Amino acid sequence: MNPRVAVVGGGIAGLATAYRLQRAGVEPVVLERASTCGGVIAPPVPVADLALEPGPDSLAARKPWGSALSRDLGLTLIPPGATGAFLWTESGLVPYLRGAPFGIPGDVGDVLRWPGVSSRGRVRALADLVKRARRHGAEETLGELLRRRLGDEVTERAIAPLLAGLHAGDVDRLSAPATFPELVAWEASQGSLIRGAQAAQRAATRADPGPVFLRPRSGMRELVDALAASVGERLRTGVEVTGVTDRTVDLAGGSSEDVDAVVLACGAPASASLLGPGAPAGLSTIGSVSTGVVFLMYQPGTAGALPDGTGFVVPRGAAPMTAATFVSRKWPDPRFGDRAVVRCYVGGAGDEDVLDAPDDDIVEACARHLSAALDLPPPAASHVHRWWASMPQYERGHRALVEEIREGLPPGIFVVGSAFDGVGVSDLARAAEETADQVLAHSGASRPGRRKEPA
Ligand SMILES: Cc1cc2nc3c(=O)[nH]c(=O)nc-3n(C[C@H](O)[C@H](O)[C@H](O)COP(=O)(O)OP(=O)(O)OC[C@H]3O[C@@H](n4cnc5c(N)ncnc54)[C@H](O)[C@@H]3O)c2cc1C
Repeated sequence: MNPRVAVVGGGIAGLATAYRLQRAGVEPVVLERASTCGGVIAPPVPVADLALEPGPDSLAARKPWGSALSRDLGLTLIPPGATGAFLWTESGLVPYLRGAPFGIPGDVGDVLRWPGVSSRGRVRALADLVKRARRHGAEETLGELLRRRLGDEVTERAIAPLLAGLHAGDVDRLSAPATFPELVAWEASQGSLIRGAQAAQRAATRADPGPVFLRPRSGMRELVDALAASVGERLRTGVEVTGVTDRTVDLAGGSSEDVDAVVLACGAPASASLLGPGAPAGLSTIGSVSTGVVFLMYQPGTAGALPDGTGFVVPRGAAPMTAATFVSRKWPDPRFGDRAVVRCYVGGAGDEDVLDAPDDDIVEACARHLSAALDLPPPAASHVHRWWASMPQYERGHRALVEEIREGLPPGIFVVGSAFDGVGVSDLARAAEETADQVLAHSGASRPGRRKEPA
């Protein structure tokens, strides 16, 4: 008999898990509180005559699972219209090092020319080549690892804006192995981050790295729409789950459903509250920070004011935004005409109070700083979208904590999502496969990928 499985939460983690279960012949029901599914991959918001997605804008191509899921669903993926990015400095935007994995140059010449870093900072970074590798010891934060190997200046001015920025986190609180395990592995295998970057660059050249980002042709919502279409009427939106006890799922309104397995894909705090006293202790301790997306659309004739690149990242505290995407360069669209369209990111660890300001103040601050760096007039239209508690923070001990949480879950209850498995859509596509596998193993059904053939 087919196991009855309920997936709580119709974000990418829940939908992709349901899709993988379905591919194995199980027909899960997906219960989503909101009126539309997708979670952070939200429907477009209006910015004058445009409709722009306020959530993720791309898949990281170096992690193949998001692309594989998209292709499996029959979607066509496109590369960005621009490559390369910039770094915000006191004297304007400077090109971010091209081809440097995780922003770290694998070439001594590039270290000596490192844009946005003083000559003293560059020389300090070179010490990475001779400093003895740390092979044992307590788990480090990303900041501890980068500062120890490359120095404070390079860490703060050049690398943290990119790496901590991807997590909207504080470089000195994020766990190195939980966020960028590759860097820990580089030190272990090469004795140096610069040599590690060099080896990664060599491997990438051999394998033809292709674009850094990809996205479905018309945007990330295409992925959600395709998953929702495949789950069909078993996706039930506007249905809030209020409790999960002994594999009975309670719904708002008083009804309940008995199932064989429950996949909680609704975030850590919601999962803890649904499980109540049965929740593993660590579940409520995974914190998250709030961020905001500020769309700025400029008048016709401004498109050329944006430099040829995907956007820029900002060292902490140097500007009101933490990063910006040149939307009209990165994802060109005939609807933009010759208007510049920019998306700024605000908030994140240590800067969440920015989000309490009125929209007009946030827009004015971002626009003024953009005009100082680029030849842009005040924007013709704008939109501010706040993402409350949207970015889980992987602090020191995160991986052990997640393991402990999973071990402490009652039998037949599973968790998946950005609080546990990586914050990128691709990470979640991989985690969805693994979670589906575990549900099937628990239920004694066949494994995903092997579609159940009719008898
Ligand atoms: C601004 C921003 C930009 C980003 N950009 C990128 C990017 O470019 N590339 C990338 O790879 N990643 C990006 N990310 C990260 C990525 O989008 C998220 O990590 C991912 O979408 C989270 O998916 P999820 O399914 O884990 O959680 P969510 O999307 O939060 O889904 C959880 C769902 O559970 C539902 N739910 C909660 N409680 C209940 C309940 N009691 N009953 C029923 N349903 C419930 C919620 O309504 C929600 O729909 C970005 C994130 C943000 C905030």
